[in-house]
Amino acid sequence: MSQGKIGVSTGDLFPIIKKFLYSDHEIFLREIISNAVDATRKLQVLAANGEFKGDTGELKVRVKADKVAGTLTVSDNGIGMTREEVERYINQIAFSGAEEFLEKYKDNNAAIIGHFGLGFYSAFMVSDRVEILTRSYREGSVPVRWSCDGTPEYTLDDAEKEERGTDIVMHVNDEEKEFLEEAKINELLNKYCKFLPVEIVFGKKKEWKDGDYRETTEDNVINDIHPAWTRKPAELKEEDYAAFYRALYPLARDPLFHVHLNVDYPFHLTGILYFPRIDNRVELQKNKIQLYCNQVYVTDSVEGIVPEYLTLLHGVIDSPDIPLNVSRSYLQSDRNVKKISNHVTKKVADSLSEIFSGDRAAYEKKWDDLKLFLQYGMLTDEKFEERAGGIFLFKNTDGNYFTMEEYGRLVKPNQEDKDKKVVYLYATDKREQHVYIEKAKARGYDVLLLDGQLDAHFINHVERKNDDVRFTRVDADVIDKLIQKEGVKKTSWSDTEQEEARVLFSPPSREEGVAYTVTFEAMGEEHEPMTVTRPEFARRMKEMATMNPGMSFYGAMDDHYTLVVNTDHRLVRAILADEKEALGEQLAPLHVEIQELERQKSDLEASNKGKKEGEIPLADKEREEEYDKSIAGLKQRREALLAAYGKENKVVGQLIDLALLASGLLKGEALSRFVKRSVELM
Ligand code: ADP
Repeated sequence: MSQGKIGVSTGDLFPIIKKFLYSDHEIFLREIISNAVDATRKLQVLAANGEFKGDTGELKVRVKADKVAGTLTVSDNGIGMTREEVERYINQIAFSGAEEFLEKYKDNNAAIIGHFGLGFYSAFMVSDRVEILTRSYREGSVPVRWSCDGTPEYTLDDAEKEERGTDIVMHVNDEEKEFLEEAKINELLNKYCKFLPVEIVFGKKKEWKDGDYRETTEDNVINDIHPAWTRKPAELKEEDYAAFYRALYPLARDPLFHVHLNVDYPFHLTGILYFPRIDNRVELQKNKIQLYCNQVYVTDSVEGIVPEYLTLLHGVIDSPDIPLNVSRSYLQSDRNVKKISNHVTKKVADSLSEIFSGDRAAYEKKWDDLKLFLQYGMLTDEKFEERAGGIFLFKNTDGNYFTMEEYGRLVKPNQEDKDKKVVYLYATDKREQHVYIEKAKARGYDVLLLDGQLDAHFINHVERKNDDVRFTRVDADVIDKLIQKEGVKKTSWSDTEQEEARVLFSPPSREEGVAYTVTFEAMGEEHEPMTVTRPEFARRMKEMATMNPGMSFYGAMDDHYTLVVNTDHRLVRAILADEKEALGEQLAPLHVEIQELERQKSDLEASNKGKKEGEIPLADKEREEEYDKSIAGLKQRREALLAAYGKENKVVGQLIDLALLASGLLKGEALSRFVKRSVELM
């Protein structure tokens, strides 16, 4: 019997391991099982190069839980350890500089674990005592039992063990008893061990027999030792890729396509990435890319390790060059990890380009699902944009697809405005904006469909990159001004006429948070009498604000609409003529009075022109105020008359409602009133 002290130079190490090392205690099982897997693989290597001449037998790792004894045991028939090896590998876990290192990284436990290779010691996170029963593959070696209760004290004795290999026996402590439950163990094995390269056996296969699940004699192997990504692409069929995807994400819909990664130089990397169907929505990503190191699961939070947009993809990345047990910040700054990220980006862009140039029709068919991913990439990664910009597609409202370059060529001749900017018209909702889309198309314009989550951002991005391109939604203005050309006809209505008509035609504010401005355009006889438009800039700001909490100023703004009155339309002209006839007598004296007061006011102003604020006589200032008050009072009377007339006039109400209806703004009570009034008018 021998006793000793584990070669840590500080007694503090064990408490660190036990309490802080991993926030996830469950990770111990991965550590212990991967050691067992390593031991069996080492034996394979020794056998392959002739250093081990015996029979390796079937190499397996077995996991057993014994609830009565309170132990969880991981056994392997790998290389095992001699007494000396136990001394060296298990006992002397600290080496020069350990104390200093611990001091430096005491807040970064993951770094400690990575640095020391404390994998085995993670067993103490869940155990009161851990035993190692091991027998080396070396001829004539004596089996030993090591035992330790989590203090630096241990015992090491000769022991009985028939077979080569190692049993790690963990006496699970009271707080962690769940790790003895079959369901819990299954969950962990499924999470961490599903693709380990050596068979992991947990109990026996069960089968449904005589109304019950019964154990068979067959080992229950929980892992696939040759997962698809470790095989050569040439060996795999489409259905193999599909089956592997289902093994990874049992509940997800079939993916669009995959990219098989396979690099040998300058680093090793294998993996399969899948483009999932996302239906143009950024869904909460439950199914994440899984990172492996030699088939050992490391993590599924790859943020910071691969570019953000790649996290929309699914699948597996496996690289022995990814350090297994280090902290995230370490991982992110690791040079290999950066190279991996660059490589994956390039490979993904390349395979998209291949599909695009190889089979454009197939590419277009998948486009609606791909769009979000490409946009995300182009918005966040300039390198990716360089690679993928050429294969980004615009889809128009007729369902045709164009590369950005093709689209520019298509619309330039017809959609260039007077400032030499090419205006890309778009709709965000084909049904709601139907009236506007049709009008634009009738004018010979093309209309894009930009109804995706990231389109608002993407539009800004494209405009920033291309000075000569401007995006305008189809309902941003009346058709004549949607793309501003030279020589647009102006309305002949005078300012006063417009001022009055503005009151007459003003839509009652129907909903909270909605504001209308009334404007006048000579749009021609053939166009609608009234149209509602939504100015591009304010709408865009507001939309961006909903996605961007920092822009709450814009978010709190009203929704701004413009009610454009077509002064050429006969109904509009008729309303105005009727109004003049009905109100003429009452309005005329008001006009005269207003004009007179305005004249007097401007005379007064003229007399004080050029004077500084202090030099203007107080009496003049007071008179000016009087004028303002009187003018405002008169205008108010005029407005009241006009507003009352407008409200009573069914045609006015009807025209406004029709315009609102065409833009999807007529709802609720207002809609009911409209329906009622329409029937009355018929
Ligand atoms: P790491 O695996 O990172 O080297 P560990 O603390 O997990 O660190 O293990 C220390 C060493 O103990 C291993 O390198 C290996 O030599 C030895 N060891 C651990 N488990 C086994 C096992 N099941 N069979 C043989 N050797 C083992």
